[in-house]
Amino acid sequence: MKTYPLALADIAPSLNPAFSPNLHQWVGKNSHFASDGGTLDTVWRVRPGAPIEAPAGSLFIGYACDDGYFSGSRLMGVLCNGRKELRWAFLHLAEHLDPVPDFWGNYKRLGRCFIDPDHAISFIGERWHEEGDRRTCLWCGHEQQQEHWTENVEISRWVNVAREGQAA
Ligand SMILES: [Zn+2]
Repeated sequence: MKTYPLALADIAPSLNPAFSPNLHQWVGKNSHFASDGGTLDTVWRVRPGAPIEAPAGSLFIGYACDDGYFSGSRLMGVLCNGRKELRWAFLHLAEHLDPVPDFWGNYKRLGRCFIDPDHAISFIGERWHEEGDRRTCLWCGHEQQQEHWTENVEISRWVNVAREGQAA
């Protein structure tokens, strides 16, 4: 089986705040390292139209077995739960996944910003420097600006009509 170049020490959060402490934990506990020093695990993306309970584009970490099983975990579960996220054998999943090209190489350069290039996910850790309406990602330099708007909202409710001789 193909291995991907990675040592656990390469993704230690002490090296780079963009590295996920939870992913480092999970790899330390659950990853399969081969005798060549690489790991069997990489990150895979669900193909459109896959008949499984995972939206197209969502990510798994693990490896595809020859018998069609996929051994691994949902990447978002790993990022949220760390070593507590269990590793499973998913039947018939492997055929619906494509490996993300050079995941570990990109992760080593960009950390969690490679997983979330839109910068839409709230990760654990100090990610943003805010100044007025702009903020800058401390991990990769990506910039966002805050938009403001007001909305006119029509609200209705039932009220009693006051009639003569009756308390309103
Ligand atoms: Zn970033």
